[in-house]
Amino acid sequence: MKPYFSHRSCYVNLAEHLQNSWNANVLFPGAPNRWSGGDWKNYSRMLKAFGFNILEFWLPPTMFSREALAGEKVQTDFIREINKAIGEAHKAGLMVKVLMIVNTIGQKWFFACPRVPEEKQLILKLWDFWSKALETPDIFCIFPGDPGGCARHGCTHEDFIRLALEISGVIKRNSPSSRVSVGTWGAPFSGWGSDYFPISDDADNWEKMEKEFIASGYEVPIWNGRMDRAKKAASYLVSQLDDFPEDTMIEINLGFSSDATYVHGGPAKKWAREIARKRDIVTWDYSLSEGELITYPHWRLPRMSQKIREWRSAAPYKGGMSYTMTPKLNLLSQYAAAKLMSDPDLDPDRISADFCASVFGEEHRELGELFEAFEVVDTGWGYYPRHRWSREALREAYGLIIEHLEAADVSGCSLPLFPSPEEYRQDLLWFARIFLELAADSPDRESIRKRYWEKSMKIYDHIPMSEDKRAERSAELFSQILAGLPY
Ligand SMILES: [Zn+2]
Repeated sequence: MKPYFSHRSCYVNLAEHLQNSWNANVLFPGAPNRWSGGDWKNYSRMLKAFGFNILEFWLPPTMFSREALAGEKVQTDFIREINKAIGEAHKAGLMVKVLMIVNTIGQKWFFACPRVPEEKQLILKLWDFWSKALETPDIFCIFPGDPGGCARHGCTHEDFIRLALEISGVIKRNSPSSRVSVGTWGAPFSGWGSDYFPISDDADNWEKMEKEFIASGYEVPIWNGRMDRAKKAASYLVSQLDDFPEDTMIEINLGFSSDATYVHGGPAKKWAREIARKRDIVTWDYSLSEGELITYPHWRLPRMSQKIREWRSAAPYKGGMSYTMTPKLNLLSQYAAAKLMSDPDLDPDRISADFCASVFGEEHRELGELFEAFEVVDTGWGYYPRHRWSREALREAYGLIIEHLEAADVSGCSLPLFPSPEEYRQDLLWFARIFLELAADSPDRESIRKRYWEKSMKIYDHIPMSEDKRAERSAELFSQILAGLPY
């Protein structure tokens, strides 16, 4: 059967602030978690077997930098590593999409302003550089921000769209066969505009911008809740569509908030339909399958199914993406997303059970239902669990998961998993055991924090902490899982 959606992307977020033991480290030579060509080959083969047709990644600001233009070692090394990944994905029959934030430059997340001539030149130079250095993405996505955007010197969402138009020309000149995709993530569009929050002209990076926001009682300098802003931004985009190359895609979600709900900027469906009259549309529904911050085995299948069915009914979407920061851990989520994008009518519980039967054996089919007990972590993004649990119910579920996983023989696994089925089984066992501890009446949370750091975040003993100090928060939050559970 022909897959329902033609655009079925798996987005691996390789960012410097989302490194962990299950992510690919293409940014830090000499540090752990490097992936060999064979690893990329096996990963791509798995994605293809699950039903994806696109591997998507972010080119993080450390790479989108002056150091890249100067040919420094870390950036040159990255080009070799990522081109190896692109090559293996292509050999496996996947397309590749690379996403770059239009103006976020360097490890300190400098937000270049297109109204400052030398800063604009730097933006264009970097797009020119990367659209030649990468061999060769099928899709280049021009992403508005997060982190990024500009609210200095009077910039607005219109500056983003005009900049995106100019950059489409650069991409098409350097890589004529690649398609351009334009993101509408955020406010909209993420961080572009001084109209919703007055930022000083000095606030040209994450640290300074965040300080100004926090001082004013805001939390994250991106999300603007107003519908009039969304209307202005979306209608301006519609008015400019004819100027973009004909095969340009526009990424627009069902809603403008970070979880594609209607709480910031209202519904986006009518804009999606409007845009679809002129250009292909896809969703970029980030938290569909995972959140950020804490790494654990997610289980968001019912929501995933509901959302993907809504893509189908809302507008003529060509498809969308499923995000992961743990490509070697959240195999079930990746499997389910690809299956549902191929056939939105599939039953998410059935998918879960079938996956577990294929990996762990028919007698462990019940794991498909039990894994729902991992989706109890209310941090990060997109947490809309189907059930609420008591500690007692969780303890029983984790106990059963441990029994099944200990008994399972994965030598008959019928899916081409990466990592190996045995490594996957061991990782799931580690989580089931530590979640059982977390569900106890008074767990040793400090010991859990340390063990989680060792298991998941250890790479940060070897690489610089990211600008937002995310890894430390991740370990702290992991140790507090279920702490506030009232039942
Ligand atoms: Zn500006």
